Amino acid sequence: MSSSVALRLPSIDGLLRHPACLPLAERYGREALLSGLRQLLDELRLSVLQGQLSAIEISPEVLAGRVGERLTQQQRSNVRRVFNLTGTVLHTNLGRALLPEEAIDAVQMAARYPLNLEFDLATGKRGDRDDLIEGLIRELTGAESVTVVNNNAAAVLLTLNSLGARKEGIISRGELIEIGGAFRIPDIMARAGVRLHEVGTTNRTHARDYEAAISPRSGLIMRVHASNYSIEGFTARVATAELAELAHRHGLPLLEDLGSGSLLDLTRWGLPAEPTVRQALLEGADIVTFSGDKLLGGPQAGLIVGRKDLIAKIKKNPLKRALRVDKLTLAALEAVLGLYRDPDRLAERLPSLRLLTRPQAEILAQAERLLPALVQVIGEPWNVSAVKALGMIGSGSQPVARLPSAALCLRPQVSKRMRGRCLLNLEAALRALPIPVLGRIDDDALWLDLRQLDDEAAWLAQLPQLQVES
Ligand SMILES: *Cc1c(COP(=O)(O)O)cnc(C)c1O
Repeated sequence: MSSSVALRLPSIDGLLRHPACLPLAERYGREALLSGLRQLLDELRLSVLQGQLSAIEISPEVLAGRVGERLTQQQRSNVRRVFNLTGTVLHTNLGRALLPEEAIDAVQMAARYPLNLEFDLATGKRGDRDDLIEGLIRELTGAESVTVVNNNAAAVLLTLNSLGARKEGIISRGELIEIGGAFRIPDIMARAGVRLHEVGTTNRTHARDYEAAISPRSGLIMRVHASNYSIEGFTARVATAELAELAHRHGLPLLEDLGSGSLLDLTRWGLPAEPTVRQALLEGADIVTFSGDKLLGGPQAGLIVGRKDLIAKIKKNPLKRALRVDKLTLAALEAVLGLYRDPDRLAERLPSLRLLTRPQAEILAQAERLLPALVQVIGEPWNVSAVKALGMIGSGSQPVARLPSAALCLRPQVSKRMRGRCLLNLEAALRALPIPVLGRIDDDALWLDLRQLDDEAAWLAQLPQLQVES
């Protein structure tokens, strides 16, 4: 029986020569086509044997079509563009900040040509990659020196290890935070070889708490910007200036992990106030660490800025080599920092800031404009409306602040019992589009927050392909 079935299935050789398969060999290569056909024929043979399929139905054209689909799937890149309509602008799972054109050009240049990554063009001698951005960092933050690593988690780890290994790190209990993805301050301290000495309480820590903890075993005082939560009510926190004075009186460095680390006062664009790097340094922090791809709006990176002698020590740590950034990151970072020299035009040129500051009225008008196209493809049982919504900055920045935004809100008009499934089906259908569309489910509806929808044409063009399972 099995041999007669096999006989009736088209042969591999015949298929490879069949006109329907020739374009596939051309496009994906003979090897890939061959292994695709083998796999498919094996599967079909099994189905025929199990009586689920008759071999008669399997024409070479059908096989070519199926193999073609598979090869297309396989060839599609795993790294894919998506539409982030979640309402969270700096979404960690979706790649955080989008780079400005200037940075994209710089990345291309760095990718395509040799460059002076560690080569001093003035002297012809070996250079230091951190020098490529040191001038800009000094100008923009007032820091004496800088070193750049892979991300802010690396920046914190490296700084702690360089300045506090085998000593105690003093930190308030209100700042022992977890940032998600298993980055927890106590764990990082332990990995850095710093003994955690926690002081104060969750809601209130006073200068005298820090003072009482200082001993010959102390190596540093650390302050962490509570970026992803907020403590309100009966609280007390020592001002950076006071803490710096106390640290310095005892010969200890004060480290400040700023998290987002804005370079400019964001209130000038109507955004919630975030401490700036310059301010932290002015108030006396010796080292400030912050991310490159949060509010700064650049590539993933961790910047360590501050006192020259301490930065020199950090740079000598062998871990620095393990955590350093590559040429593409540095190229992008320099370009982004360069934009900060012209704050007046920053909101036009830096995508993250432009998106964060888009006025609600403009987003609502966009939602109203796109509404008819969505209504047309979505059908029953959906009620679609253009409404005001609240978004977030994301990446732990200003966790309680909400950005007034607008969204297309899709509400299933079905019984309460059916709603969950309905919403999940819609969510899956949106994800299955050529450029997956990611929204958020909240309050028995699916919300597509349009703050970040720049490319309306691409979004509209693929809408007719939406197929929601009912
Ligand atoms: C985000 C954040 C980090 C981690 O930064 P990454 O760049 O994501 O590694 C560390 N500390 C604080 C306070 C943060 O907000």
